[in-house]
Amino acid sequence: MHLILLILVLLLSPTSLGSGISIYWLDKPLNLRVNAQIQGGVIYIPIEALKNIAEIKTTSQVAKVKYNGQEYNFVVGESKVTGIEKKMTKPCQLIQGEIFLPMDALSDILGLAVKWESKNRRIVLSEATEKPGVVELNFYEDGNKAVLEIEHRGPIKYFVTKNPPDNWQVEITDSSLLKPMPWILLEHPLLESVRVEQLSRDKVTLHLKSREGAVLESKIIGNKLILELMYSVNNFEYRNIGGLPLIQAESRTGLPEPKEYLTEDNQLVREFQGVKLKGTSAKKVINDELADYLEYQQIDDKVVAKIQLKRAITGIMVENFSYARLAKVKAVTTRENDLGTVLEFRVDGDTSLKATKELNTLKIEFKEAEVNNLKNQFKSTNEVKTLNFSQGENDNLIALIGLGSSSGYAIYQKDAHIYSVQIIKSQLKEKLIVIDPGHGGHDPGAIGSYSEEKDLTLDIALRLNKLLQNRGYKVVLTREADVYVPLSDRAKIAVQSNARIFVSIHANGSSNLEAAGVETFYAVGAAESMKLAQVVQKNLVNILNANNRDAKEGSFWVLINNIPTAILVETGFITNAAEEDKLRQELYRQKIAESIYQGIDSYLKSLI
Ligand SMILES: [Zn+2]
Repeated sequence: MHLILLILVLLLSPTSLGSGISIYWLDKPLNLRVNAQIQGGVIYIPIEALKNIAEIKTTSQVAKVKYNGQEYNFVVGESKVTGIEKKMTKPCQLIQGEIFLPMDALSDILGLAVKWESKNRRIVLSEATEKPGVVELNFYEDGNKAVLEIEHRGPIKYFVTKNPPDNWQVEITDSSLLKPMPWILLEHPLLESVRVEQLSRDKVTLHLKSREGAVLESKIIGNKLILELMYSVNNFEYRNIGGLPLIQAESRTGLPEPKEYLTEDNQLVREFQGVKLKGTSAKKVINDELADYLEYQQIDDKVVAKIQLKRAITGIMVENFSYARLAKVKAVTTRENDLGTVLEFRVDGDTSLKATKELNTLKIEFKEAEVNNLKNQFKSTNEVKTLNFSQGENDNLIALIGLGSSSGYAIYQKDAHIYSVQIIKSQLKEKLIVIDPGHGGHDPGAIGSYSEEKDLTLDIALRLNKLLQNRGYKVVLTREADVYVPLSDRAKIAVQSNARIFVSIHANGSSNLEAAGVETFYAVGAAESMKLAQVVQKNLVNILNANNRDAKEGSFWVLINNIPTAILVETGFITNAAEEDKLRQELYRQKIAESIYQGIDSYLKSLI
């Protein structure tokens, strides 16, 4: 029985067919357990032949091959290779317990160079010398055209598809990205961005976002694929504007500045470089008192339009043509005047301005506009600090103006081309603030265990004075030392100095030693005083994290005199041991001064 079985196995084994095919790696024979086999005219290579160049893991039915960073699963009896979307011509075979691949899998799937030398009956393997792919991507401008140059190793096969209105896809087949390519954002009027990616193993895709209406032309020069984006024009029309001839273009991209001249035989010529005529060439008869005909055609990379005039025209129109769909912001200048700072924007084409202010930024939206060869003469002043442009929605141009100290703005169109933005100077400096440190001299005010009110209020007042002056406010103190100033004199100082704001600073005392917290008083019925008291109180509570005894009406003498905005701040209870402790700390008193300062500052800003 054993003998018969053995014979049968030998007969069925494919080794008996075409053994003796050796496999070489370059010029060295591979020492393999089994040689290559021929079956049904197909040469099969044992997976073992790849052991020098690939990571191989085999089970009885599957060979996992990792080569060049890619993983391939070869399964016995299957021609589909998992891991990639490719199929071999023949399925894998299991021969003598080893997995074999059809020879074409080595070249087509793994990309190896495979040479079959029938005379020597040997197969020579080597790594494919050069993988075809994209080596470099360059962008440049050429006579108004936007040019993308793709340098490629190996032959270039590509096709272009357009996804309207302005997306283009260029697929390069049998290619790969030989190095990572960035996403390129351009500020070119024709080409907005380029993204290059490798979506499958052998295809590179370029995504281009162009200006709507732009024309894409492609060609291969040597090892380079050249993609050119051009402006386009549909047709030209003739206009007689009050005795002056005009050539008007219908274009979705807008057109670059043309070269314009008058020939000796009275032809008015406009040459548009880097422009594609989308319609057909035409000659249109005019025959009015100025001109005989209008003619336009494509000549190489330019479109030439000309009007045959009846006679020479001495004054050719100086009208500034703007065929573009978008208005163009050409220049910004900065100028200071009595009111503050003026920014002037020079705009060609039709637009309108919309302004919104948020915190310290003034946002100006130019309807359907863009910056174009901007002559930027912006300079920082007290009122304006920065200027930045960006393209917003609906083709609107956004100018963000970082404001310094200002108290408003005015925007107007000065003439056909100039839009003025007046930033108005801050008037805050003119506002006089009177700080009144409570008590003093023989009047100590409330008395605590370790301190007296008059000293604390003077210290806080001096700190507040410093903060306000640093911010540019004009400040007067009712006392600057430990002296007694009668209440009537304090009010007089405020009225005579024409104070805008009067702040009296105190510390509280109570027979209830538990009483604690801050409170701010304003005169009965004084609406502005109430607003100031509320914002100061809010700041004190937030910054000091103190007990809130509210902003409330009070009938203190200093508050009911003739001062537009007056408050009295009780900064804490000197009779409360814990609060006195805090009030005696310098840092705490600084925080009180800061709370009051911020309250005053935001109150004054709210008036602008
Ligand atoms: Zn007091």
